[in-house]
This record gives sequence, structure tokens and C-alpha cells, in this order.
Amino acid sequence: MSINKEDYKVSLEGDFIPFALPDIAEAEIEAVVEALRSGWLSSGPAVKNFELAFGQGLGADVEAVSLNSATAGLHLSLEALGVGPGDEVLVPTWTFTATAEVVTYLGAVPVLVDVDPRTLNIDFEDARVRMTDKTRAIMPVHFAGLPIDRLQLREFARSHDLLVVEDAAHAFPAKSRGELVGAGQSEATVFSFYATKTMTTGEGGMVATRDSALADRIRTMRLHGINRDAFDRYRAKGPAWRYEVVAPGYKYNLTDPAAAMGTVQLARAQSMRDRRSNIASVYRDAFMGTDLVLPAESVVQGDMHSWHLYVVKLPDAGRRDSFISEMSARGIGTSVHFIPLHLQPYWRDLCALRPDDLPVASAAFERVVSLPIYSSMSDEQVTRVVDAVKAIS
Ligand SMILES: *Cc1c(COP(=O)(O)O)cnc(C)c1O
Repeated sequence: MSINKEDYKVSLEGDFIPFALPDIAEAEIEAVVEALRSGWLSSGPAVKNFELAFGQGLGADVEAVSLNSATAGLHLSLEALGVGPGDEVLVPTWTFTATAEVVTYLGAVPVLVDVDPRTLNIDFEDARVRMTDKTRAIMPVHFAGLPIDRLQLREFARSHDLLVVEDAAHAFPAKSRGELVGAGQSEATVFSFYATKTMTTGEGGMVATRDSALADRIRTMRLHGINRDAFDRYRAKGPAWRYEVVAPGYKYNLTDPAAAMGTVQLARAQSMRDRRSNIASVYRDAFMGTDLVLPAESVVQGDMHSWHLYVVKLPDAGRRDSFISEMSARGIGTSVHFIPLHLQPYWRDLCALRPDDLPVASAAFERVVSLPIYSSMSDEQVTRVVDAVKAIS
């Protein structure tokens, strides 16, 4: 028995424009082949190399720790910060379920927060209202790649004595007030290299931090709680087989073939972002006079949007599903980001929330559609999306 590969084939030919596609060039393919030939299939020199390049790209004293997903990075960041039972963590409802689920891994409770109607990023005023004396941390999401104002975030965290783990799954590369997301003062910032994200290793993630004790704890916990320092210590004066388990850790390490691909994607990340930005300006110019509500492009001076997603709001609720079917009938894939967490059965019941409790997100959900925006789209494909949207909306 075997599967029929044709059933799974990603359509790169014909007329269909998929919602998302990774941008893989010959250089990524060669890097993976080289890694395969090297004999290192688990975490080896390519992982070290990728981490060094990623950290250096963010800043001289930023440490980058790779993992096999952003979810793992969010989990281990909270773990390293000591978040645990009895703690509450502020999470925007406008996110993927991973942001909230990692809080529950640790026995803590996510507190869902409404979003700003213009940016769809966390609403700090609503966050303030939902705080209790158990609130330990906040996990802001740079939705679609639009950076949260880093000064506003810092001031909020400082004044309420909160730990900050930024979910930057959409935000590489992005800048707030001229500073790259991940280069700032938050305890940790977590990027995703999932197949649909702005750069990819297939599956993968990275934690960026300026706290080397935090980075050490994550490095220990991503590989079974094996303390590398102790390992190196023994190795220097003893046999290579000896190691020390200091905690019940996890199996969250990135592989060398994935990291080799990541290093090439990293070098191309800015040019891929510039192409997406170019597509975003074509969409903006084309849709300006229509009754679509266009996404915010920046919050303050000096921002750089990563343009991971291009999310428009339809003029009225109730049209979204037919809009998506009509786009699909024209051979164009679209998506919805996000179904707010408080509308998902598990989080709705856990947090005992009704749609009206987070009114901005509930209303926005009825109107949002994500259009294709990826660096391998041709000008002709962008034009087809524009024409279809104008014909339908
Ligand atoms: C994709 C995504 C994640 C999870 O990333 P993985 O690398 O797949 O674990 C987390 N948060 C947000 C907002 C995402 O979009």
C-alpha cells in the first residue's frame, strides 16, 4: 500500500493561485542536500550556524535558540520564566491556538483580551481591565506582521510588572520605531518557520532573547533536560558518553537539514519581504477607492510591516463566506485569520466567554478575508487577484 502522490501534489502549474506558497530557490535545495551528505541529520553544525546568523542579524547581544516550532519556543520561554499553576497570562483572542495552549501546558490560565479594531493587535486598555493580582505575563502577537508599538508595550509591562513573551510568528522581519522585532527589551520573542510563514524551515522556530540564563534554560529543556554545561564539563575531563539530566525536558530540537535551509531563507528574508511589501502597495492602490477596509500599514513613525498577511475587511458582515467561494470559483485561494479563540469551543468553555465579551474581535471575524501575498507570486497573479476582488466586492 502507498498513498497516491498525485492527490497531495501542490498545484504549481495551471491557473490556480494558492493562498500561500513557500519561496524555495535552488540555494535552499543545495543547502539541504549538503546537510544530508554531511552526516549530521539531527542538531549539529548547521543548527549552530543558523542560530549565530539569526542572533547577529537582530543585534550583537541577542541570543537565538532554535526549536522545532514556534509553539515549542513559546512554551519553553514561559517555562524558563517560571510561569506555572496559579498564574494568569494575557493573550489576545485574535491569534492561533498555539499562543494560548502553551499557557495551559504549564498549568497557568490564559486570559483572552480583545483587540484594537484598526490593527487587530492586542488592546492594552482591555488588557488592563482584565488584569488581576495573578497576572504574571503578556504574550502580544504582531498580527499579520504589523508591529505593536514597542514603547507602548514596554511601558505597559513595566508599569504592571509583567513578563513579556512576544509571539512574533508573523513578524520576521518587522520593525517598530526603527528597531527589529526581537531586538528589544522583552524577556523573549518567538519566531515561526512553519511552511506558510515569512521564512521557512518546513517546521521550526526561534527564540530571541538578551537574557543568557533564559537562553541556557531553553537549550537545556529543548533536549530532554540535559545540561550541556555539565556535559561539556565532563567531556573536558572525562568520557564523551557522560551527561547530566537536570530536569524532565522535551524533544524540541531543530534538525540540521532544516537549519541549513533556514540559513539560506534568512539571507533572503529582506528581499522576500520587499516583494510582499510591493504586492501590498499594488493591493492598496487598487482597493483604495472601493468600500473594502484596508489593513493598517504602520502604527508609528519608523515601523516596517513584514506583510505576512494581507487582511481586508468586507464592508458588511454576512458576505464573507460567499466572497471566499466566489474567489475560489475564480481559481484564487484565500483564508481567514483568525477565528478568534473565544469563539473556539475549548477556549470559550475554559474561559467562560460569550461573543459579546470580546466585541471587537467578534465583529471583525465576520468581515475578514486574507488575500494571497507571497514573494513567489507573479505580477500577473497579483493582477488576477485585484481583478477578482474588484469584480466580487
Ligand atoms: C503559526 C503561528 C504559531 C505557531 O507556529 P509553529 O511554528 O507552527 O508552532 C503561533 N502563533 C501564531 C500567531 C502563528 O500564526
